[in-house]
Amino acid sequence: MDESKPKDECAQVTYNFKCSECGMNEETHYKGVSPPFSRKIQLKYPSYVMKDPFSPPGKGEILILGADCAICGKAVCISKQCSIFYLKTYCLKCVQNSMDKFPAEVTNKVKKS
Ligand SMILES: [Zn+2]
Ligand SMILES: [Zn+2]
Repeated sequence: MDESKPKDECAQVTYNFKCSECGMNEETHYKGVSPPFSRKIQLKYPSYVMKDPFSPPGKGEILILGADCAICGKAVCISKQCSIFYLKTYCLKCVQNSMDKFPAEVTNKVKKS
């Protein structure tokens, strides 16, 4: 078999996403709000997006891996251990440093861990 490197896959620009909390390292295909490979989807906030590897080509299914923290700008994954989504994405460190800026429903989740 000689099809290990399809041309369209080679030409793909990838962005390295590394979660600043857990260190998860993935290649993502897009960072922003409207992934070019999925015209239907418009995200509310810039996120690191990869094509869903299990979705048939042309379907445009996507996976969101994470986003930049709205305070410190570090990339964090969407895991509950790493970030909290409250209007925007925040890393847990920033939430812990600014507990007074967040409602109890948010800070309670952080305190538990
Ligand atoms: Zn993480
Ligand atoms: Zn942060």
